[in-house]
Amino acid sequence: MSLIVAVDGPASSGKGTITKLVGEKLGLINIDTGAMFRCVTLNMLQENVTMNEEEKIEEILKNIKIEMNEEGKIFLNGSEVTKRIRENDVNDFVSPVSTIPIVRSKLVELQRKVAQGKNVIMEGRDIGTVVFPNADLKIYLDASPEERARRRVAQNKEKGIESSYNEVLEKIIDRDKRDSSRELAPLKKAEDAIYIDTSNMTIAQVVEKIERLIKEKEGEI
Ligand code: C5P
Repeated sequence: MSLIVAVDGPASSGKGTITKLVGEKLGLINIDTGAMFRCVTLNMLQENVTMNEEEKIEEILKNIKIEMNEEGKIFLNGSEVTKRIRENDVNDFVSPVSTIPIVRSKLVELQRKVAQGKNVIMEGRDIGTVVFPNADLKIYLDASPEERARRRVAQNKEKGIESSYNEVLEKIIDRDKRDSSRELAPLKKAEDAIYIDTSNMTIAQVVEKIERLIKEKEGEI
């Protein structure tokens, strides 16, 4: 039997941190689908492939190998890219790349395959709406753009990167707009998803709440 927990939400809503912690606590495999879109984007940058070069994109998708190990490290075609896929050039290009239909269909196929027969917590933008419309539990994590920008600036500071709050806020608003207005698999809450606004919650509180929801579900299955 497999248990699928789908977690969707906008950029910097805490999905990555929260799903990692919940996964570790409950023994669920954590799958970060944003990292998969970031890997395709990085591969296109490496090969100098632009948005309109469909044949070249198909070639990339045919050969791409994306792996995630137990420590959460990400490998693209055999090389570790965990940090590289969070750099500015990838940040700026990933949202447009994620609107390309062949990219989405290939990644949805991979996402369904990696989850087959396993207990997973999968985070992204369209997990509850498109990838697993029948997920056992769907969560939509949200926070105000201002709070998300504050968290991102603090996170950057911890990593030794100085960033301007206004610039970060502008980019967050821009990415939200692109992700929720695109035609294919836009970011939106699934009707049956549980909405959690984390603006005034600590990480521990959000983890506890989701843990409780999962345990309730497990009791029902
Ligand atoms: O979650 P993260 O910020 O790493 O995602 C990067 C980008 O990948 C998002 O802004 C979105 O454009 C795209 N994405 C998506 N569908 C997903 C996960 C991510 O379109 N399931």
